[in-house]
Amino acid sequence: MAIAISGPRVLLKQLRETMAEPLASQARLDKIVSLIADNMHADVCSFYVLRDDGALELFATRGLAATAVHMTTLRLGEGLVGLIAAQAEPLSLDNAPAHPAFAYRPETGEDPFQAFLGVPVLRAGQTLGVLVVQNRDSHAYGEDEIEAMLTTATLLAEMMSTADFDALIKPGQDIDLRRPRQFAGNGFTDGVALGKVVLHDPRVVVTNFVAEDTEVELKRLSAALDRMRVSIDQMLSHGDMQSFSDHREILESYRMFANDRGWVDRLTEAINNGLTAEAAVERVQNDTRARMMRSTDPYIKDRLHDLDDLANRLLRVLTGDGATGKKDLPENAILVARNMGPADLLEYDRTRLRAVVLEEGAAISHVAIVAKSLGLVAVGQAENIVSMSETGDDIIVDGQQGTVYLRPTPDMIQVYVDKVRLGAKRRAHYLELKDKPAITRDGHEITLLHNSGIVADLPMLQDTGASGVGLFRTELQFMIASRLPRLREQVELYAEAIRLTEGKPIVFRLLDIGGDKVIPYLRYEAEENPAMGFRSLRLALDRQGLLRIQIRALLQAANGGPMKILVPMVTDAWEFRQTRLVVNKELERMKHAGQTVPSKLELGAMIEVPSLLWELDQVLPEADFVSIGSNDLVMFLTAADRGNKRVAKSYDPIALPRLRALKHIVDMARRYNVPLTMCGELAGRTVEALALLSIGMTKLSMSPPSIGPIKEMILGTELTPIRNSISAALLEGAHGPSIRELLLDWAGRQGLVI
Ligand code: PEP
Ligand code: MG
Repeated sequence: MAIAISGPRVLLKQLRETMAEPLASQARLDKIVSLIADNMHADVCSFYVLRDDGALELFATRGLAATAVHMTTLRLGEGLVGLIAAQAEPLSLDNAPAHPAFAYRPETGEDPFQAFLGVPVLRAGQTLGVLVVQNRDSHAYGEDEIEAMLTTATLLAEMMSTADFDALIKPGQDIDLRRPRQFAGNGFTDGVALGKVVLHDPRVVVTNFVAEDTEVELKRLSAALDRMRVSIDQMLSHGDMQSFSDHREILESYRMFANDRGWVDRLTEAINNGLTAEAAVERVQNDTRARMMRSTDPYIKDRLHDLDDLANRLLRVLTGDGATGKKDLPENAILVARNMGPADLLEYDRTRLRAVVLEEGAAISHVAIVAKSLGLVAVGQAENIVSMSETGDDIIVDGQQGTVYLRPTPDMIQVYVDKVRLGAKRRAHYLELKDKPAITRDGHEITLLHNSGIVADLPMLQDTGASGVGLFRTELQFMIASRLPRLREQVELYAEAIRLTEGKPIVFRLLDIGGDKVIPYLRYEAEENPAMGFRSLRLALDRQGLLRIQIRALLQAANGGPMKILVPMVTDAWEFRQTRLVVNKELERMKHAGQTVPSKLELGAMIEVPSLLWELDQVLPEADFVSIGSNDLVMFLTAADRGNKRVAKSYDPIALPRLRALKHIVDMARRYNVPLTMCGELAGRTVEALALLSIGMTKLSMSPPSIGPIKEMILGTELTPIRNSISAALLEGAHGPSIRELLLDWAGRQGLVI
């Protein structure tokens, strides 16, 4: 027999009134469980709260022994209540004592109750507690009753974050929501940062839960859904991929969900139960998050993530909350996001940012590179951190370990304060090395250069003592601008970069856009494979206006001094030749106009598309210098997307096949007597850099924080023996230990810490 309930709408109204009444905290909670029991015609209604020690404590009851309140506890997973909390799913039973998980608690006097319905109290997908109703007789609770309980639980979850609720928590204890948590991710940079969480895509805070008028709320939902559908369709049809998260596949998935009847029905049902439209979205989103956290299938997880994002969008439409959290950063801000593009990161106030933590991303994705070039600590693949964090939470990011501590304990904070001091000491040590030339113990001189992207990075040259800038990624300046920089603005920018390098060489790379380097004000056509699509030099040669203006700006910025220009993504020698033609035309134009041309103009090619490896005999005689982009080269050699966490780490970049390819370039560059630099991320990691030195590379360009550790490695290395053994290993093939093992073993025997 299903029990007729007087309707969750009535109950929600009563609960809202109770919350506003001037009652003591416990009395309020007691009244709330009584109201729920009455409304559900239940003999018992109990509310358990998940504490930070993993125990579920009975906080209030109507029907069980009053003396058990704040006394009875169950562990997570123990008993029916523990099971609901662990699984974050409702449980309805007609004969509770017969369930294998049933745990008898004599102090509560609960033995005579047969019918049982428990629902998790969720917030952001996390279990905060469990709400239970019980009846003496044996009957099954219906779908309506489960739904009513879930709706009520949404309100309880909100109540738990109020100061009034804090008064119910025993001293020395806390609720699980605020428990310290640790995340094992992947460190993108070294270094440690302590600070406060800033959510990149902050959750919309719903304040109005109980509907005044259900019809009005249904109309609001329908209008918001329509608006959202239209905007998704527009984004798809315009190919307006403004930010990283707006990539086509995600938008397609949004469109699918936005039109999904099941989802819309669940939202409608929650409103019919008395919630406002925004509270209904929050309630349904909670279930999604809970499922997302439990799912181990990466595909399902991704789709649930998309649905979660979509719900956030819908909430923004409903609440008119367009905030993106980019304003008013606290000191020591630590950004937490599912993922973001480099342009998103560059929009924040860099003086206050200390670190970035992502649920996704990979070490050589562009956002990680930008983070590094900004001197931020960065960790990726910190699963579920977004839903576990609140803006303002304390957080520690350990880039070296790839570990993130959310709401760390005071002990942990102390450990890291000490670590930060140690890091400062190490930096002081590297600072002492800055004027020492980078020469191996057996006299091989190595040139160390910076990878840079924004003018503000360049003064760091003074701290590292690097010989110059091996790679200035010009696109980053385009990415932070709100419109295409004009010729004069570009000239000023490059001239400023030259001024800041104080006479040291600087290599300007031509715009390398496309892929994940999105320039918000340029229109892109959606592509299946943007990394292999219409990007970089392909785009530049096709739309020569942009290319010509940039080359003109660079030539003018040289102001009669030397100029080095690097051409990205050269796929075949013809493209390099075409670029040279554009450069020559611009030179002629300058001469015609009576302007001073650069004293020396060098044009270099990036080697980052595998095909060029077999055309080096064409391109090297024509290039003034070449530079290897290991990030793209390794990606294309291994067919493993540099930004895809599932594959990016699968292939060791210095394993035999990759190192052979690199050695081929080194040998060819030597044969044609063309200067060669390595400018991908590889050169900034000690073992990898040693591998590069051992195949004969002598110019390494890297992000500035890597200069110190790499120089220390060089100063401690006797290069000739390891060169010999790596050369032998490359010739012999893969019979013995891996190249990495060889290098580590050799370094260990030399007492070299790498
Ligand atoms: C590279 O591909 O290694 C490189 C230096 O270029 P980017 O990382 O900017 O694509
Ligand atoms: Mg590249």
